[in-house]
Amino acid sequence: MADFAVVLNAGSSSLKFSIYGEPERSGWRLEARGQIDGIGSSPRFTASDGAGVRLADERMDAGVDGRGAFAALAAWLRSRYGGARVLAVGHRVVHGGARYARPTIVTPTVLEDLRELVPLAPLHQPYNLAAIDAVLERLPDVPQVACFDTSFHRGQPAVVEVVPLPRELCGGGVQRYGFHGLSYEYIASVLPAAAPEIAHRRVIVAHLGSGASLCAMNDGKSVDSTLGFTALDGLCMGTRPGSIDPGVILYLFQGLGLSAPEVETILYKKSGLLGISGISNDMRVLLGSSEPGARLAVDYFVYRAAKEIGALAAVLGGIDGLVFTAGIGENSAEIRQRICEASAWLGIELDEAANDAQGPRISRSGSRVSAWVIPTNEELIIARHTGVLLGLLQTGV
Ligand code: ADP
Repeated sequence: MADFAVVLNAGSSSLKFSIYGEPERSGWRLEARGQIDGIGSSPRFTASDGAGVRLADERMDAGVDGRGAFAALAAWLRSRYGGARVLAVGHRVVHGGARYARPTIVTPTVLEDLRELVPLAPLHQPYNLAAIDAVLERLPDVPQVACFDTSFHRGQPAVVEVVPLPRELCGGGVQRYGFHGLSYEYIASVLPAAAPEIAHRRVIVAHLGSGASLCAMNDGKSVDSTLGFTALDGLCMGTRPGSIDPGVILYLFQGLGLSAPEVETILYKKSGLLGISGISNDMRVLLGSSEPGARLAVDYFVYRAAKEIGALAAVLGGIDGLVFTAGIGENSAEIRQRICEASAWLGIELDEAANDAQGPRISRSGSRVSAWVIPTNEELIIARHTGVLLGLLQTGV
């Protein structure tokens, strides 16, 4: 095995990884990808090779925590690629704040800056940084690169970024940032090949996974998005509410006497699809349920998405294309159909057979606005940035 790079996407209950073989200048070769999910409950290690052939599928000890997950991944890499060198490790880091507008090589100063952003992304940032710490501990000489979900949205005009609170409060970085940028950057990078007629036009990309947002793009650049200062804004998500009247938060504190940690847990872990349904945060479970709570959760998810598509269409002055991606966007024909039907007024005419076949083009040929399903690949974007930044790849690939 040639030397390789590792891409890590560490979350609260999962550690996703991709292994890329040493590039031949023009690009990385995917060797393997996998994850340890169910950390803290019923952890499982799965991996497959670049062609999708299963390499591992094992239940792990229930006591395996984040550190245990890293130890297991390190052991698996040693057993499989022993003798080869780790060239670099690229990480998904959710929040880059105002300072990090592009991917960056991790130094002690960078790490310190990123730790300051933990309160802005408590569900993600601590785990992203723990992954960097774990690599530092095991492989202190291997260069690490942090790639941010916020970077793709930087450079928007003040009117998009402003948070309309008193100026003196907003000096310290209280502004709208936007997230899921690595996913949107990947989609923008493949649009010229996958959907050439809209690649340089006005497009809304719907990243619908356990986290969900929309990005308004013009000519492949982010113009606005539905997530803001934190990853709580905008669309209804698996366990996060999306936009709500801030007066409700005040009521939780003042009316119900809840503490800040309790409110944080409610907003990040107990709301959204899970909160409305009282059943699950998993869209598959909700779509398969006839419980009124599950139906309302799905109805609200679709309603909110359609409403925000209308808002971003106004920002763009009309749209030419709508792209669905991520777990729900790539796999649920029903959700796509319902969102497209609710957005028919924009000129989207769904091709139901193409939609059932998961695309890529899911609108009829005469549709004024075209609709698409394009699978995202955040890991590849991280691998590219890591390779370019460290001089392992030529730019622009
Ligand atoms: P993340 O990477 O943030 O964990 P994903 O992009 O993997 O999220 O999306 C997870 C979501 O996708 C879950 O709500 C899951 O139910 C949903 N999902 C996956 N497959 C399907 C499907 N076939 N139909 C409906 N929802 C699906």
